Amino acid sequence: MASEQVTERRPLSRMEDLVSLCARRGYIFPSSEIYGGINGFWDYGPLGTELKNNLKAFWWQRVVRERADVEGIDTAIIAHPRTWEASGHVEHFSDPMVDCRKCKRRFRADHTDVPCPEAPAKRQVAECELTDPRSFNLMLTTRVGASEDAASVAYLRAETCQPIFNDFKRIRESARQKIPFGIAQIGKAFRNEINPRNFTFRSREFEQAEMEFFCHPSEREHWFEHWRQQRLHFHECLGFGTDVLRTRAHDADELAHYCKNAVDVEYAFPFGWQEIEGIHDRGDWDLSRHSSFSGKDLSVTDETTKERYTPMVIETSVGVDRTTLALLANSYSEEVLANGESRVVLGLPAHVAPVKAAVLPLSKKLAEPSHALENSLRRQFNVFYDDAGNIGRRYRRQDEAGTPFCITYDFESPDDGRVTVRERDSMAQERIPIDAVVGYLRERIEAPI
Ligand code: ATP
Repeated sequence: MASEQVTERRPLSRMEDLVSLCARRGYIFPSSEIYGGINGFWDYGPLGTELKNNLKAFWWQRVVRERADVEGIDTAIIAHPRTWEASGHVEHFSDPMVDCRKCKRRFRADHTDVPCPEAPAKRQVAECELTDPRSFNLMLTTRVGASEDAASVAYLRAETCQPIFNDFKRIRESARQKIPFGIAQIGKAFRNEINPRNFTFRSREFEQAEMEFFCHPSEREHWFEHWRQQRLHFHECLGFGTDVLRTRAHDADELAHYCKNAVDVEYAFPFGWQEIEGIHDRGDWDLSRHSSFSGKDLSVTDETTKERYTPMVIETSVGVDRTTLALLANSYSEEVLANGESRVVLGLPAHVAPVKAAVLPLSKKLAEPSHALENSLRRQFNVFYDDAGNIGRRYRRQDEAGTPFCITYDFESPDDGRVTVRERDSMAQERIPIDAVVGYLRERIEAPI
């Protein structure tokens, strides 16, 4: 239909538009909203949860299931506190902070070239009355057990990888893996970020999907490059083109002291290029430290050469929430149509879209056969049923929710056994047999290889 042609497309330029869509559609909104929210914590509603789960499942599929050389695990959020001494977090995981003597607010010492919240039009934070920088540990603590003494303090994990190192020996032996191999997990991490901002980008509770690959020292460059390419391809499969995705190698002075090589995968958010994933050559730092702190030998023996060595670690660490945010930002656009109407559309890749298809009867009188179609699809896909309002408005609601296909059941359908499938991005419509719908959807929602 000519009226459905797009005459203008505007990508996301203001985060507020995305924040508002996410709240309106129940994707993501502040945690404990009825109490005014809690800074740095977010809740995912029905659509957001599906999107995030699909992203995690895709990562798990690519990183764990498709590879014989990676094992997936799920560790406790709270580890023995010595873990975080060994990892260096107790001593070093801190940001230098300055306090404003007047307003008592706290800022990161390296982030003072921003407007002062007290008088944004007048001065930068750097021009306020600031204390000297002091270090502030970013780990969140809790107490375990009934006693209130110092020994009961435990840390909520600041990254998901340290428990992987704790479990290295157990996993290698029980899964009968040999070097080189990897261990992966997805889970919550917590950081008491001083200044949570940019929606979910910098949160205090977030999810990471991390993979630690253990290899012989002579092969670290090879595996680093292998994983760099794998991970870049993963992001390409999420629809991120070269205009919004890039890698940035760390300069020598940016590298953590134990890190030999590091590359960030960055996405072009409306607030600038920002890291969504880090790929790091961590050397033997972690296993050596945990060996010496635990007293357990974590080195391995090469069965052929009998060489005894501590494996090197190549890490890939992606933020699930940050990547979800990048997916939402990348897929958001406002379009003006030839007939003067406009629409907001979330062009999410079909394989991660929360709802794959909406079943829309043209009239409530067609509810029974439409529900039959809905139920036959529900066993295989996440589908949605909507019979409220005119069909154009129902299409728009699905466009905004990111649903790639709408299936309209009309008055002809009982006779000719066909339904109309409308594709979200092109708005093209096609009439297909009802018994071909499953195959039609299956073909179109497959993830790229
Ligand atoms: P940044 O410099 O932005 O604080 P980082 O270099 O400390 O990030 P890593 O420790 O390498 O981050 O963590 C790996 C991934 O975890 C990051 O690429 C990011 O996607 C995610 N991540 C880290 N901190 C946060 C946070 N506060 N909120 C959401 N995601 C985070």
